Amino acid sequence: MKQDDLLGKIRAVLFGTAVGDALGVPVEFKSRSTVRKNPVTGMTGFGTYGQPPGTFSDDSSLSFILAEVLTEGYDLNRLADHFLKWRNENYWTPLGDAFDIGISTSRALSRLAKGEDPRSSGCKEEGANGNGSLMRIAPLVFQVYDKPAEDRFELAREVSSVTHAHIRSVISCFYYLEFLRQLLEGRNKFEIYDDLKSGVTDFLKSVPVEQDEIALFGRLLDGDIYKLPEDRISGSGYVVHTLEASVWCLLTTGSFSNAVLTAVNLGEDADTTGAVTGAMAGLLYGIDAIPAEWKEQLARHDDIEDLAERMAKKFSNQK
Ligand SMILES: [Mg+2]
Repeated sequence: MKQDDLLGKIRAVLFGTAVGDALGVPVEFKSRSTVRKNPVTGMTGFGTYGQPPGTFSDDSSLSFILAEVLTEGYDLNRLADHFLKWRNENYWTPLGDAFDIGISTSRALSRLAKGEDPRSSGCKEEGANGNGSLMRIAPLVFQVYDKPAEDRFELAREVSSVTHAHIRSVISCFYYLEFLRQLLEGRNKFEIYDDLKSGVTDFLKSVPVEQDEIALFGRLLDGDIYKLPEDRISGSGYVVHTLEASVWCLLTTGSFSNAVLTAVNLGEDADTTGAVTGAMAGLLYGIDAIPAEWKEQLARHDDIEDLAERMAKKFSNQK
């Protein structure tokens, strides 16, 4: 990939994530019926956390931290150190305050702070399948895209497992990265969706995973999720719901703006559904399809541009 093309795609992922996140922050935790009375149509502020317009949350902070680590080379220990720096020193926060942190992430970071290895710090129980690793994994696509499927799965597993080590979170991250990877190649979104039905299903046969776990992804891997009405799609913080909702938003809309606004207007975990959808929609429609006034209102806009440039330099040199 040429450095200019690569830079555009990296910017699309980073800004797509942060714009989707920041659009959703003011309505996080609000029910769909509440959001529907006053739907999000642009970058607003305040609401749930009382933050000004353009304030992104943990989803983007932790995504930027992953991107930042990748500029110096993949290193799980450094990733863990930087996550702690976020919690303890407000590193890569929008306005100097880590104002939102998920339960499993918080527990895993406490273990890391006590010296636990990042390969064993993540929550392993079935109940720890919130979207806390899915929301921060998109930048990993630039690390995995030219690697074989086994390596792509292994990297998704490692990065998810720093906080979310259950196989369900790992499969969710893997599916999402596979989708992003094909978007990076410029493929049609419905072709990608169909391709992953057999591609991901076949790959998972090589992984020690219970059939019951794979069955939980049935609406993505067996059905045509885009045919479902909105009331069958959940905006909850459960990782499978977030993944389903994001794919549904991408497949049922025709522009970046509509994809992310549809995502945040599902309510509940609006910022995360927005962020996860935003990275995909950014890659699909391109950086220039992200409304300039949304991008420009983002906290740390110039730092995000700088991060994208450093990432592009790193990944184009690698080729
Ligand atoms: Mg958040």
